Amino acid sequence: MSHQSDSRDDRAPGGGTPPRGVDERPADTTASTQPQQPTLSVHLDQTSQPAPAELPTERKRPIVLRAPLAKVARVVEEAQVVAMLPAEVATTIKPRLPRGRDRYRFLASCLISAVVHSVALIVLSLWILNVPQGLGPTSLFATWAGQESLEGPEAELVLQAESHELTPKETELALQQSRINVLESSPTEDDNSDEPTPQVAEVGDPARPWGIQETTLMQTMERPTGGGLEGRSPDMRQKLALGDGGTAESEEAVERGLRWIAAHQDPKDGGWSFDLKRGTCKGQCKNPGTEPSTAAATAMALLPFLGAGYTHREGIYEDTVRRGLYYLLRRGRVTENGLDFQEAMKNGMYAQGLATLVLCEAYAMTKDPALKDPAQQAIRFIEYAQDKKGGGWRYRPGDPGDTTVTGWQLMALKSAELAGLKVDRSVHYAAQRFLDSVASDEGSQYGYQDKTPRRSTTAIGLLCRMYAGWMRANPPLVRGIGHLGSWGPSPTDIYYNYYATQVLRHWGGSDWKRWNDAMRDFLISMQETKGHESGSWYFDDEHSRVGGRLYTTAMAVMILEVYYRYMPLYGKQVFPEL
Ligand SMILES: [Zn+2]
Repeated sequence: MSHQSDSRDDRAPGGGTPPRGVDERPADTTASTQPQQPTLSVHLDQTSQPAPAELPTERKRPIVLRAPLAKVARVVEEAQVVAMLPAEVATTIKPRLPRGRDRYRFLASCLISAVVHSVALIVLSLWILNVPQGLGPTSLFATWAGQESLEGPEAELVLQAESHELTPKETELALQQSRINVLESSPTEDDNSDEPTPQVAEVGDPARPWGIQETTLMQTMERPTGGGLEGRSPDMRQKLALGDGGTAESEEAVERGLRWIAAHQDPKDGGWSFDLKRGTCKGQCKNPGTEPSTAAATAMALLPFLGAGYTHREGIYEDTVRRGLYYLLRRGRVTENGLDFQEAMKNGMYAQGLATLVLCEAYAMTKDPALKDPAQQAIRFIEYAQDKKGGGWRYRPGDPGDTTVTGWQLMALKSAELAGLKVDRSVHYAAQRFLDSVASDEGSQYGYQDKTPRRSTTAIGLLCRMYAGWMRANPPLVRGIGHLGSWGPSPTDIYYNYYATQVLRHWGGSDWKRWNDAMRDFLISMQETKGHESGSWYFDDEHSRVGGRLYTTAMAVMILEVYYRYMPLYGKQVFPEL
């Protein structure tokens, strides 16, 4: 399918609805805004070391780096939050580590600010980091940087070594260990003359840096938990469908949609085509698509089966799925760069993303060894085809990216990781760089190939950010949810609906409920009930004319599978419901 022009009417309205109940100002660090002092953890009993301002003078030049506050807070979320203290109190603690290994351990503390709900919440957190042997005692602390980036407020990280200057290599190692990726480095603004001159960190060897050397807006690679495929098992499916917003009617609509898709499989070779000329249809259904790729059509047709838990090894569609997978595998071309599903199409990377997604999901769900290597090789081709400079994907390998093609590749990479396949982390880093390049409104909206926001690309961008690890409380995400909520489901743009529904499902809460009630009932009411088209959907817009009724039906079914197709990303809420 070609989405190069996207919807003509989906330009996002300016502004959008600000997130409710969220103060977007940087957290105030005055003591008066502090939440009530919680009970301090026992770890603070060991708080005998000096504050950063009193660090021993022999300490050599610290390296000052800037990282997104959300990222730092994310680390804290995973680490043990041991205290909430006034922001001015920068404290270090003794490492809770076996004696004798202290010299090889990292001592770290972190001062965190976070904007949560309608009050400013300052979190001072302390955690222990490992550093490679030989680096020696080193401290890392973070303070509110007083600046905003596209990703939101920033924290300033100060990295100091007791005995020597940190080399770029040591810095890299330490930061890798700490799981903090740095937005940028810069000298401190309020440079204290008594302190060593902060050294601006070098970014490292351009050939093999932290993978982020050109990144101006670093995103966390720490993923929210959840997002897995376990909800597709029959038991879980039923529980989730009826417990998380689906209904008996929506489940029936899914089954009717799958029956229609199965009826349009080519009985001879197991494939599907967007033109609906295969199988028993023979043109009885209106609205055939124009896209010629049968790999894309077959992958698009298989996804909703997998989404409902039907694999080639389980369920009433075993045969349908098995024959579809065989067809798909035969469309792949073995190359030195991996398994290529482009079929020489001018927009072949759509098919690549879709086919890879299918193989990875089928492998993740069944662990069928016959699928492992093809899935891994298809992932390899996606890695190869990335625009190494901009970080995105487009119609052909190496083309400067667009958000829709990039979205499918990132979904495939995510599924590969769920399946336990290898994915090059630097590909993820570069992909975030692409998203930065099309982001506007501080990351709450996304364009197609530039920053001009559109609704469908905004939904894709936000979903990709969620998978990339954006915290739920991240202000741009909160704002983006506000946009989707104010726009609501589209009566025609199934592509936007598909992504926005997933974003809101992961988000949860009242925004999700409002969206889902409207989206679910609209789709149920729009499903064809008569004749050969019974069980299918069609919504006329320019995307739909390319993919036709097979595409719109597959997307509609997957929207109605949203309750169990992927587990919610934010299962464990650290911060209160916004
Ligand atoms: Zn038909």
